[in-house]
Amino acid sequence: MVNKERMVNEFIELVKTDSLSLQEKKMARLLKKKLEEMGLSVFDDGAGIKLGGNTGNLICNVEGTKKVPPILLMAHMDTVIPGIGKKPIVEGNIIKTDGTTILGGDDTAGIECIMEVLKVLKENKIEHGDIQVVFTIGEEKGLLGAKNLDYSKIYAKYGFVLDDGGDIGEVAVTAPSQNKIDVRVKGKAAHAGVEPEKGISAIKIASSAISEMTLGRIDDETTANIGIINGGQATNIVCDLVEIKAEARSRNQDKLNRQTAHMKECFDKAAIKYGGAVEFVSSLEYPSFNISSEDRIMTILERAANTCGLTFKPVPTGGGSDTNIINGKGIQAVDISVGMENVHSVNEQINIDNLVKAAEFLLAIIESIDN
Ligand SMILES: [Zn+2]
Repeated sequence: MVNKERMVNEFIELVKTDSLSLQEKKMARLLKKKLEEMGLSVFDDGAGIKLGGNTGNLICNVEGTKKVPPILLMAHMDTVIPGIGKKPIVEGNIIKTDGTTILGGDDTAGIECIMEVLKVLKENKIEHGDIQVVFTIGEEKGLLGAKNLDYSKIYAKYGFVLDDGGDIGEVAVTAPSQNKIDVRVKGKAAHAGVEPEKGISAIKIASSAISEMTLGRIDDETTANIGIINGGQATNIVCDLVEIKAEARSRNQDKLNRQTAHMKECFDKAAIKYGGAVEFVSSLEYPSFNISSEDRIMTILERAANTCGLTFKPVPTGGGSDTNIINGKGIQAVDISVGMENVHSVNEQINIDNLVKAAEFLLAIIESIDN
């Protein structure tokens, strides 16, 4: 029922549509027009105004023909850079670019699966429950669209986000929460040649703290990283300020708290040792989620995979996605592989058969929803 040629043509049309984060208007217009041509009504939730973007998230409600729990299908409209003027090339079974831009299969592949499945449902008069389609903005800039989505309009019970790589049938069912950490290490400036004794080096404090810190992979569900360090003005000035951006992630909230406290403690100790000061600010970037094997959504996914001859493989992911946010809003949701490969690079590509299989899987999921 899934039409491969139609999918490839529309995927290419979408890829050719520029859609950088918070500049998704062209893409939103195109999708709105396509959904309206299917007889569906679409609205913009206004999130773009809050975020300084040129469009909001798109919400489209597809009325069900049978009484089963309503579901949410979600994909993001924005792509990373370099993403302007993408020229998709079909080479055998692969779609890639000319190597100067990303392909944007992340997340055009997810959008295309949803678009194709909506057509298939309609033309084959397949019975289904209420479907809420949400195309988000600003995902790549920190899940901004999902965080600012108008949840008063969302009543779905289960969510299926189509925004992952891996074999088709692979589904991310658990992901960590992330703390975003901003640190300001303060020392005292002095002439480095004339009277260095009067100075306190913020660089020395920061490096001493970081050298004592446990970072990288902490355990199988926890990671931590210092990502950015800025500081210093000249070699003849004892540096009085270092600014650091870091993160910690874990699928276990206690472990996340512990790792964050450990990082703070290392900075505090070093500041005391050298007589400086530290401002340490940690904020939750997104919450974790963890679907258990007992949850109903697992049965739905497994049954759907069996129907289309796929192996259902529930997997953990170390990344954050819109899935984290909607789980945090009380909608049980998973992130499904749509076959995107080498994302966020100019070598990004997608295998056409995988794209088709992902749409078939999504169709089977919708048909597997029951009471
Ligand atoms: Zn993505």
